[in-house]
Amino acid sequence: MPDSVPGLHHVTALCGDPQENADFYTGCLGQRLVKKTVNFDAPDTYHLYYGDRTGSPGTILTFFAFADAGPGRAGAGAASAVAYAVPDLDAWMGRLAEAAVDFDGPADRFGQRAIALDDPHGMRVELIETGGAPQGGTPHGGAAHNIDGAPADEGFHSVTLCVADMEPTARVLRDVLGYAEGPEARGEDETHRMRFAVPGGGRGAALDMLVTPERSIERQGTGSIHHIAFRAETDAVQREWQERVRAAGLQVTPVIDRQYFNAIYFREPGGILFEIATDPPGFAVDEPVETLGQALKLPPQYEAQRATIERILPPVTAFA
Ligand code: ZN
Repeated sequence: MPDSVPGLHHVTALCGDPQENADFYTGCLGQRLVKKTVNFDAPDTYHLYYGDRTGSPGTILTFFAFADAGPGRAGAGAASAVAYAVPDLDAWMGRLAEAAVDFDGPADRFGQRAIALDDPHGMRVELIETGGAPQGGTPHGGAAHNIDGAPADEGFHSVTLCVADMEPTARVLRDVLGYAEGPEARGEDETHRMRFAVPGGGRGAALDMLVTPERSIERQGTGSIHHIAFRAETDAVQREWQERVRAAGLQVTPVIDRQYFNAIYFREPGGILFEIATDPPGFAVDEPVETLGQALKLPPQYEAQRATIERILPPVTAFA
């Protein structure tokens, strides 16, 4: 049994119009659409997955598309931002300015430069400059390249979890998932941010907790982050995590087949939905790496309804 999870596997959020979402993530942010499928609990809506070329764990941002949903409200009890690592922030700022995308910053985030922007449906995306250096782990290749050759991102740097109280969530990160506490920072607006990271670093190894003075509770809607998923290298390791989560007194689901990984879910005491997802089988399980994301893929239980589903869903196309 490993002492800690290796870091983030994926992050799942809610968006509005799926084509606007695809335009932004594949066009502006240079991600690859690696899977076009349906929400397994609502098969008349899309579930879109973006990542690097092969859909590596730690690069996967997914969206449930609900075109008619109202906007979410930020607050305690949810993740509030997703941060990508980028090698060269100046290049990205130039690119965003060219695309007329507003952003805040750059600002210092624990010694690294960061900017923040809202995606078309209000989800907070941050870009944190890591200078191209591996984030404390092995170098990784295969990142998606932007259509115009702008620097590719390197997958996730971190996520920010917004909580009303630091300690209950911190205890789960530390005592169950094996995160170590890092530096903390207090903002002029009385926010309190604490960095956590898993030993060894690497892609998606960091996680920030943010306590804000206003104690509003978040409400899910478009732009909200629904859950964050940590990695389990194998099914066997996932079962050990399931046991450890249960032993910590938290209610954890059985293993659920999500077609591209197996998943277990539990809600941490701060109200945020956590998942632990397996690396295998990955996104090339039902289509070749070369054509990931081009065709609508359905899990076996919905294949019989393909004609109906295809009639309902609007077409979504990604930039190359
Ligand atoms: Zn998930």
